[in-house]
Amino acid sequence: MAAEATRVLRPAAFIDRDGVINAELDYVWRIEDFHVLPGVVDGLRQLARCGYALVVVTNQAGIAKGRYDEAAYQRLTAHLRVLFAAQGVVFDGVYHCPHHPQGTVAAYTRACDCRKPAPGLLLRAARELGLDLARSVLVGDKTTDTQAGRAAGLRRTVLVESGHALPADALAHADHRCADLAAAARWLCAGGGENAA
Ligand SMILES: [Mg+2]
Ligand SMILES: [Zn+2]
Repeated sequence: MAAEATRVLRPAAFIDRDGVINAELDYVWRIEDFHVLPGVVDGLRQLARCGYALVVVTNQAGIAKGRYDEAAYQRLTAHLRVLFAAQGVVFDGVYHCPHHPQGTVAAYTRACDCRKPAPGLLLRAARELGLDLARSVLVGDKTTDTQAGRAAGLRRTVLVESGHALPADALAHADHRCADLAAAARWLCAGGGENAA
């Protein structure tokens, strides 16, 4: 009980994967299809430097739809971790939702609380990693990403244009919009209104 009471919670930067870290394609599960977008390594380094735990949160409905399986997803995740670690970027967590309500694989076909815009992945990461959601931020390329961030009570949400085209009302769903993860990191680390730490 004493240990729980004195546990120091960290702020996190929750990062969507497809369209933010790597180029958006129609289902990315092959290592040869994983192309890191420009500026991503520097952006992640900057977020880590200014005190954010780095946590990937990604919808992977392709698993429920039978486009690839959990093992293929895990192989690509291992590749992602090694690729970034070699450049000094260590992810504190990588969380995915394998579900979809209209899947073809029975085990993953259901409504769930972790498919964004639901906040389940963020809430689970907060429990497991000891994160302070009220000081945390999210960078995504779809309004479903930032809706998940807002549902989890994050401090700031940012939409980037490196994945999907943003809707005209993007700023109704996010605190800021910018070109890519590097620009998002600059804005967040400059305060995004105020400092994280
Ligand atoms: Mg995306
Ligand atoms: Zn799910």
